[in-house]
This record gives sequence, structure tokens and C-alpha cells, in this order.
Amino acid sequence: MRDELKELTGALKNHIVSEKESRNGLYSRFFIEGKSDTPSSVPVDAGANGGMPAVPAVTLEDIEKELGDCKRCKLHDKRHHIVFGEGSPTSDLVFVGEAPGRDEDMQGKPFVGRAGQLLTDIIKAMGMERKDVYICNILKCRPPENRNPEPDEIAACEPFLIKQLEALNPRVICAMGKFAAQTLLKTGTAISALRGRFHSYHGIQLMPTYHPAYLLRNPGAKKQVWQDVQIIMEALKRVS
Ligand code: URA
Repeated sequence: MRDELKELTGALKNHIVSEKESRNGLYSRFFIEGKSDTPSSVPVDAGANGGMPAVPAVTLEDIEKELGDCKRCKLHDKRHHIVFGEGSPTSDLVFVGEAPGRDEDMQGKPFVGRAGQLLTDIIKAMGMERKDVYICNILKCRPPENRNPEPDEIAACEPFLIKQLEALNPRVICAMGKFAAQTLLKTGTAISALRGRFHSYHGIQLMPTYHPAYLLRNPGAKKQVWQDVQIIMEALKRVS
């Protein structure tokens, strides 16, 4: 009798754990499986759900609020605007770039300079508008003279990008350029070797491709980017 009771209690515990995990599926994909950063703003509702944590319904607005007037790294010093990201919060497709440049820093919007115009053209060639997708960057503040992002800056900013991607939960992420692809995929592999096929970002299909700024300097690489976005378009056509 005591053994039966023990077995029943164990089964009940397992059931409760798996219920909790399935409700918090995305949460675990982003923050438990391989990621150490637990979102501070995940609501815990002790009264409802039998004392279980509530489904984390963190919105982009919550994340922007948490970011606040960020001074977590040295880039805050010279910035004019934080460039959080913009676009559809329900889009199937998210573009992730490197960091704001001068135009983006002045306007507070991602990809509005020359590289941004090229990205807008790519999105149009895919049969969409900017408002149909979401666009953001690894860093939210401009590095001086557009220098490369530094590891401490990426470390300070990435938790917010992770939370954005969790809130957006897109079907496809397009990582533009070496910094976006290597940061998200946690690899040092060259962008030329990563591009052209999907990788998994916590179960989300991630396509690395060349950065639009690289295309401005190397127009010959547009052919490869077009191949990459066609693979994305095919994936988006598929019924999920
Ligand atoms: N380059 C980027 O990586 N991001 C921008 O927002 C603009 C240019």
C-alpha cells in the first residue's frame, strides 16, 4: 500500500513537471536549454495554476521598459538613441543585424541608412514590406565610428535580444553578417561557410547571410543573398 502510494505520488509529480514544461515550452527553449540567463520579468503567479509559474507573457514593450535608459555598457556614453528594433511583433520573419550606424543612431530606428535601403529592397523582392517583418540588431547602441562590436558590449546587450526573440517567436530568423550569425549560433565559423542553409536557434530556423553593408562593397555577393532569401521564402510558404 505504501509502495503504491509512493508510485502514485511520483507519477503525479512527473505529470505536474511535464505540464509546467509544456506550458513554458518557449521559456525553456530560450532560458533553460543551454542559456543561463533567466528573464527577471517572467511573472510568477503563486495563486493560480496550483502554484505553478504562469506562462511567461513578456511583451516587446516589457523588454523595452526593462532596457530603459540603458547604461550597461560603455556605448551609452556617445549614443543619441537606443535602437530597440521595429516591425511586426507577430511576424514569421525576424532580421537581425550587427549594430546601429550613424543614421540609425540619429533616428532611433534600425536599418534606415544605405545598408537599410538595400535591406528594404531585399524585403520587397521577397514580396513583403518592412512593416511585415521585425528588424533588430545584436547591439542596440552605435559603436563609435562603426567599429566592430566588442565582447563586453555583446554580453551586455544579448540578453535583451534573446528576450525579444523569445517574445517574437518567429518561424525564421535571418542573421545578417558575421556578428549576428556568430553571436546567435555561438560559433566562430566564417559567415561564408555558415550561409546557404538553415541552422537551429533553439528550434527556430536561422539563416545566416551576408550583411547588406557587405553587399554595398561587394555587389557580386547579392546572388548568394538572393539564394539564401529564396530558401527562407520557401520555408515560410510551408504550412507549419
Ligand atoms: N547595420 C546594422 O547592422 N544595423 C543597422 O541597424 C544599420 C546598419
